Amino acid sequence: MKDTAKPRALRGIAKHYQMFIDGEWVDSKTEETINVVNPATERMIASVPKASREQAKDALEAAEEAQPKWEDLAPLQRAAFLFKTAQLIWRDKERLARLLTSEQGKPLFEARAEIEGAASNFEYYAEFARRIEGDVLPSDNPHQTVMILRLPIGVVASITPWNFPSATVARKLAPALITGNTVVTKPSSNTPLSTIEMVRLMEEAGFPNGVVNVVTGSGSEVGDELVTNKITGLVTMTGSTDAGRTIMEHASNHLPKLVLELGGKAPFIVWHDADIPWALKCAIWARFWNCGQTCICSERMYVDEKIKDKFVSAFVRMAKDLRIGNPLDSDTDLGPMVSKEERETSVSFIEKAKEEGDKIVLGGQKPSAPTKGWFLEPTVIKDVKQKSSLVQDEIFGPVVPILEVDSFDKAIDFANDSKYGLASYVFTKDSTRVLKAMNRIRFGESYINQVGPEQLQGAHTGFRQSGLGAEGSRYGLEGYTQLKTCYVDWNDKPSLSYLFPYKSK
Ligand code: NAD
Repeated sequence: MKDTAKPRALRGIAKHYQMFIDGEWVDSKTEETINVVNPATERMIASVPKASREQAKDALEAAEEAQPKWEDLAPLQRAAFLFKTAQLIWRDKERLARLLTSEQGKPLFEARAEIEGAASNFEYYAEFARRIEGDVLPSDNPHQTVMILRLPIGVVASITPWNFPSATVARKLAPALITGNTVVTKPSSNTPLSTIEMVRLMEEAGFPNGVVNVVTGSGSEVGDELVTNKITGLVTMTGSTDAGRTIMEHASNHLPKLVLELGGKAPFIVWHDADIPWALKCAIWARFWNCGQTCICSERMYVDEKIKDKFVSAFVRMAKDLRIGNPLDSDTDLGPMVSKEERETSVSFIEKAKEEGDKIVLGGQKPSAPTKGWFLEPTVIKDVKQKSSLVQDEIFGPVVPILEVDSFDKAIDFANDSKYGLASYVFTKDSTRVLKAMNRIRFGESYINQVGPEQLQGAHTGFRQSGLGAEGSRYGLEGYTQLKTCYVDWNDKPSLSYLFPYKSK
């Protein structure tokens, strides 16, 4: 099973990548594989092992064994491995960006930004080495001290989606490792290569065996083993709300800690007093970035009725001008969706809108060119009802419903009328409206007169069914630690008189 770290050439241009368990590159014990397909060409570009439950368990056991020694290092020593990883990611940025585009489909300029984000996550969390802070508090009694320590949790299971296969992994691995945990990470089967390449760089950076492991395979088998195995102390998963719910149910057997970053349905409110040309640019980016496959993408627009007609026609013109094409070409704005299934899901929303009598004012079809690939035209739908599934359910694709509203309060009510609560957008120059939006919009993030992505120092959190816990920021880091309170008596002559009620001396 042991093999070299380099991917092997497979039929034609496809390569075979292996998993990394306990410092060894290995295949599936069953020899089964998963094909990785370029969504722009529909051609197979690689295969990865389809791991069994047993191998997920092997990876957890390796992580468990490596953890005490990793925890014993000073945080600054751990930070050196993270800094080195960041350096290697910067060194290989172009290669990693091209690989990311080839397996996921986002335009190359977006892939480059994502790789930079991955490197920055390693740097940002390495810098926390001297700041994993606890507390020292006065005791209620003389000559005693109360200390709250932050300890590692142990073994972290990291489970990631396909839409940001590099950044989401880095955002989990870096804080987990700096705080003294070891990790088993499982990427999405659509996009495992970016994670494997990142782990290859971590091997080059010299991480000790077992500290970081990657297993590839299905969520229901490999992912489920990571969730239900008692070795796992924390599951950090980014993905759909449905999968998050299943993970929460299955985790109840042994109650690991959970950090869940789940689905979104971001409202995008534009008021008449906004900088409209700027709001239009932001609206285009916020919806069509990564072909609409971003958890913080604008998924429903609420436009002030005073500007609705002009705003919608300008938005449609701009969306129509987006250049669809091979994401490796430098003049492409919009690449393909990640898979045929994802495109079908988006198309089913468009079909439903037609049945319900909504107006498709742009797109709705597979474009005539390119002929291969899972492309979908930017699609704009008008006159949609607040209660329709187009407004209530996550649409992970380049499709946006637009509603008109006659008061700012109603726009906020409509925004909050959602089972999701991840990101939100508001465009207005009125400071009262800005403050009202900040206080009344019940979402984990509000982008006000700007778009994302979120920054490293911001806490990425979901209200309602968008998740549990935080990622990014010091709050994200703290999620990878356990609090322990120590009560220390440093009296020269210890005295129990304050709590010893018994007669005997
Ligand atoms: P998904 O839920 O299908 O899969 C995500 C990961 O979970 C994959 O690795 C998958 O194999 C694994 N998984 C699925 N079922 C599992 C189970 N029962 N046990 C263990 N693991 C399991 O999501 P996806 O289609 O890959 O990604 C798109 C979704 O991710 C969207 O809903 C999007 O909003 C969400 N997302 C959220 C954020 C955020 O920060 N909140 C960021 C990116 C993506």
